[in-house]
Amino acid sequence: MYGKHAAMAMISTLVVGGGIGGLSLARELTIRGLPVTVLEKAAQLNPIGAGIIINPNAMRVLERNGLAEALRRDAWPYLMRETCDHRGRLLAVRDYRPLYDSGKLSTGALAHRAQLLETLCRGVPREAVRFGVAVRSIDLVPDRVRLETEDHGVFEADVLVGADGIHSQVRRHAFGEIEPLYMGYRSHRMVVDNVAGVRNFTEFLGHGRRIGLVPISERRLYVWTTFNSPRDRPSALESADAFRAMFAQFTDERIRRLFSQLRSADEIITTEVEEIRLDRWTRGRSVLLGDAVHAMTPNIGQGAGMAMEDAAVLAAELEGVHARRQGLAQGLENYVARRKSRVETVMRVSREVGDEGQLSGVIGCWLRNRRVHRAGRDRGKMLADLERLLAYPG
Ligand SMILES: Cc1cc2nc3c(=O)[nH]c(=O)nc-3n(C[C@H](O)[C@H](O)[C@H](O)COP(=O)(O)OP(=O)(O)OC[C@H]3O[C@@H](n4cnc5c(N)ncnc54)[C@H](O)[C@@H]3O)c2cc1C
Repeated sequence: MYGKHAAMAMISTLVVGGGIGGLSLARELTIRGLPVTVLEKAAQLNPIGAGIIINPNAMRVLERNGLAEALRRDAWPYLMRETCDHRGRLLAVRDYRPLYDSGKLSTGALAHRAQLLETLCRGVPREAVRFGVAVRSIDLVPDRVRLETEDHGVFEADVLVGADGIHSQVRRHAFGEIEPLYMGYRSHRMVVDNVAGVRNFTEFLGHGRRIGLVPISERRLYVWTTFNSPRDRPSALESADAFRAMFAQFTDERIRRLFSQLRSADEIITTEVEEIRLDRWTRGRSVLLGDAVHAMTPNIGQGAGMAMEDAAVLAAELEGVHARRQGLAQGLENYVARRKSRVETVMRVSREVGDEGQLSGVIGCWLRNRRVHRAGRDRGKMLADLERLLAYPG
């Protein structure tokens, strides 16, 4: 009933969360001429000091919504991924260029998070994003969404979108408390000068630990690590020396040079690797996207990519509601139907890559490295697998 009613007027959307997912949705709705308001609790765009891998599927979303060129201006092209063992011996190279040259995939990009967030934010009307807004209460009345903020502001719309990340307040309102699932390892992130002249995304597989080196510009390099760590015993980093000691098994000269720049542990961000698994994505007039509904492990650089794909599909469905091709309830169901299995596949692949990557026993690691080396030699299969995973299904 409410779907039919909403289709009579311009459908309005209220988005809680101005991260990559929320801003992507705002961009997608804006280019379709649909009104949107984003409420972000941070006082300003507050990107953590880290890089991001924007895979070909996410770049295809940006190409379609007109922001790819602006993003690429200050990003580094993602042409190859080199995988090495902990001593720096090359195990495999994944060369994406044949897939780019044949037009099967859009060229991926390696960037600073600030660059991506600013590009998205510039792609929506200034007044559409409200910073420094904390949500106090959410009311899903039958034909409207009503939201009150801590400073007594009131916002109303036809649809409420929870794009408010892994600890989503909108999710809690719709489905109750759902604890993220800790995956057994944590991650460090930082951005440093590229004193080692790394030109391609290069990852090092160690024993219970991994390091990734990601050039994001001519001079700057994003470093990520992962390390096995029991949930209740987080190892607080006390100094840059403690960090270097933790990764002493990695003896490659590039890592030594890059890590020698670190002066303080304050430059390093530590994050728990967690998942959110949810069967339902929508309730009444509220719907979730991005980490709020499917936070995933970072192993294949797809969390933000999935949030951007979600945004494009959800906006297309809301456009269908606006054009009276379907009611709101149907539009939201279609969104879930189009996204769920794709997201589950990507989450599973990412989890498996992490499980392999975090192996710690000598024999397990040796067998893994041999598998990676062999897989790298089967170029045809590797390209087919990459294409299947990284083509944006629309
Ligand atoms: C170590 C690590 C590395 C990663 N690397 C990559 C990568 O290379 N490539 C990739 O694609 N993905 C990567 N990801 C995943 C990616 O960061 C996330 O999937 C992505 O940021 C999700 O975007 P989002 O907008 O859904 O959520 P978030 O980025 O969490 O944004 C949520 C926003 O909502 C705001 N918010 C929260 N609660 C409220 C509230 N109550 N009211 C108002 N605002 C609120 C927050 O301030 C935030 O701005 C990585 C993740 C990790 C942990």
